[in-house]
Amino acid sequence: MNQSVLDSQLHRMEQALRASPDQMLEFKAKRDLLARILQLKEEKNVLILGHNYMEPLVFYLSGENERGDSLALSRRAAETDKPIILFDGVRFMAETAKILSPDKKVLIPDPEAGCSLAEPFTAADVLEYRRRYPGCPVVTYINSYADVKAETDYCCTSSNGPNVVRHAARAFGTNRVIFFPDSLMGANLQKELEPDGIEIIYPGKEDDKFGRCEVHEKFTVEILRGIRRQYNLIKGSEETAVLAHWECLPEVLAEADYYGSTSQMAQYIAKHPKLKRVFLATECEMAANLALEYPQVEFVKTCNMFCQHMRRITLEKILYSLEHEVYEISVDPAIAARARQAIDRMLEVPRG
Ligand code: SF4
Repeated sequence: MNQSVLDSQLHRMEQALRASPDQMLEFKAKRDLLARILQLKEEKNVLILGHNYMEPLVFYLSGENERGDSLALSRRAAETDKPIILFDGVRFMAETAKILSPDKKVLIPDPEAGCSLAEPFTAADVLEYRRRYPGCPVVTYINSYADVKAETDYCCTSSNGPNVVRHAARAFGTNRVIFFPDSLMGANLQKELEPDGIEIIYPGKEDDKFGRCEVHEKFTVEILRGIRRQYNLIKGSEETAVLAHWECLPEVLAEADYYGSTSQMAQYIAKHPKLKRVFLATECEMAANLALEYPQVEFVKTCNMFCQHMRRITLEKILYSLEHEVYEISVDPAIAARARQAIDRMLEVPRG
């Protein structure tokens, strides 16, 4: 890459980080490392995808349309013509990119970056639910591995969950839908879709096999109410908001002013220009990234809820993975083909 292109990419990053003195200090300290990564990205023609939960320096390595939530990144992975995709996120996300782009080399900087939701479930669990609830479609949250997706009818993400479940119920002519593997999101979908007369079967509802995000399950109503009191976040105010992720407890969603996926929370902030102070009940790096985008909003940073899996992705590991083209994701082609059908069906569901 010629020096002026590299300089302009570094300048773009610096501009994105300038609202935070801490990030600027880190940017300056790690400038050489960032330059080497950007150089390799260009030389090897790599698409670097960055999930919303990445720390800011990692997040802003990705271009504007290459950062976001699982759904946005899945769409981006499916349409790229670049030969290598490096996924700054956890393993199930990189695996989804590989399923959507089987001819591409998909790298993850740390293959140990897992997910407490995806880990406990296998294809055998889905088959057991199918046996117990015959005729019900299975909708699987994107936070799952390929073998689980391969046994399901539709994938969904936290951006499109209710819409996909409604569609699956209609397509199968039933009002019962199996939702895998997030027990809390299953309970939240149940509440959301009650007016549609849809019953959700999810792990933990009628058995003791729970699927939970180890980050989001830690938020409680007491924590949210305490933060409301301490930071004067008045429910219903135009100037403040408490936003929660779908993976939180149902009572936490009820206490929030709004709930949704990470991208939907970001959109909420964009659509409410009078906001002055916000608390996000989700992984803490999300607030750090949004604080750079919306410097006029104060993001209450009392939380210490980091995802240990997401935090495994560091600049040093990204450089190593790019330099040596290591930690390549592979998925059995037969499983990938079946998992792809579930993802494609999700992508084809009309937006609600
Ligand atoms: S934040 Fe929760 S759902 Fe997301 S990767 Fe971490 S453990 Fe999994």
